[in-house]
Amino acid sequence: MKLIEEFRNGEYAKGLVEEIRFMEFCGGHTVALLKYGIPDMLPPAVEMLAGPGCPVCVTSRTEIDQAIELSRDPKIIMTSFGDMLRVRGTKMSLSEQKALDADVRVIYSPDDAVRLALKHPDRKVVFFAVGFETTAPVTACAVKLAEKLDARNFYVFAAHKTTPGILKVLTKGKLKLDGFICPGHVTAITGISIYDVLIEAGKPAVVSGFEPLDILQSIYLLLKQVNRNRAEVEIQYRRVTRAGGNKVAQVLMEEVFEPTDAYWRGIGRVSGTGLKIRSGFSRFDALSEFGISNVLEEKETTGCICGSILRGLETPLECPLFRSLCNPENPIGACMVSDEGTCSIYYRFSRRKGGAHGFPEAGFPEAGFR
Ligand code: SF4
Repeated sequence: MKLIEEFRNGEYAKGLVEEIRFMEFCGGHTVALLKYGIPDMLPPAVEMLAGPGCPVCVTSRTEIDQAIELSRDPKIIMTSFGDMLRVRGTKMSLSEQKALDADVRVIYSPDDAVRLALKHPDRKVVFFAVGFETTAPVTACAVKLAEKLDARNFYVFAAHKTTPGILKVLTKGKLKLDGFICPGHVTAITGISIYDVLIEAGKPAVVSGFEPLDILQSIYLLLKQVNRNRAEVEIQYRRVTRAGGNKVAQVLMEEVFEPTDAYWRGIGRVSGTGLKIRSGFSRFDALSEFGISNVLEEKETTGCICGSILRGLETPLECPLFRSLCNPENPIGACMVSDEGTCSIYYRFSRRKGGAHGFPEAGFPEAGFR
């Protein structure tokens, strides 16, 4: 009798049919997953969820408002990466302000902003710096370059974010995640110690490359860890990433920046996940030069569910504005702006039929696999 009862145990049954959920932190991984139809190849019990690893998407509206406010000063040349110009703050984007009157320029490297400052000694050149640990060392390099070349009219508006603190938030959220596909490029800089927070929370982690076979192998490695009840960091992306990371970049970041709190769009304030310019380089700090206060809190645009999407709680398919009012030509929320934003990725690569990432109904143009 005892044996029969055990084989009819509801709790055991729940465990057997429960989905295994992995989160890919980085938008680059979400692109590859959807572009190559990987979710449709996986066993039905394995679900992949997009995370908050799109730097443009998580930049707060208040920071964008502050950058726009600065750009209205005729003495200032505001510079940033192309995607950052299209994301709206509370009312408008940097590119809309540029269309009105501001001198806002797209740059491809922070060094370009330093050169611009040298070319225009009568103006103040501000670099609106976003990105994770991959781009922060490049910003640090530009600060050092400005110091070396004595570019006194160069400033950094630092809106960088770092990953360990947000990973900790994700492991404590209401969504049960069984493992993480970790960003290969961030790890190439930081090394794997930033994933200690995952291991402490008992979550398997695999550092992955960005090609479809990289991701398939990473999912396989995660599944193996889940099956063996292990939680450790494995590196799949060995052709680029080493356990210790890039020491030169780490020293540079450490020299120029110190940790501070940061506000993540749709998620909120997360302690120690921002980067502030250290006092030794304060003359390049736009926040102190122009009296910009640190971000407190803000509300998301009405109807936009970017906040839930960035935490893996919902997908773009659950947003009523997706593809109708919100599309890449008219992005309502930040997740539709960048090529690495989850909504933009779904817009381009979701399949019309079938699969966890497919549209339930027909009628949309075929996005296809490119
Ligand atoms: S589809 Fe647009 S409005 Fe909806 S969550 Fe995505 S960005 Fe926000």
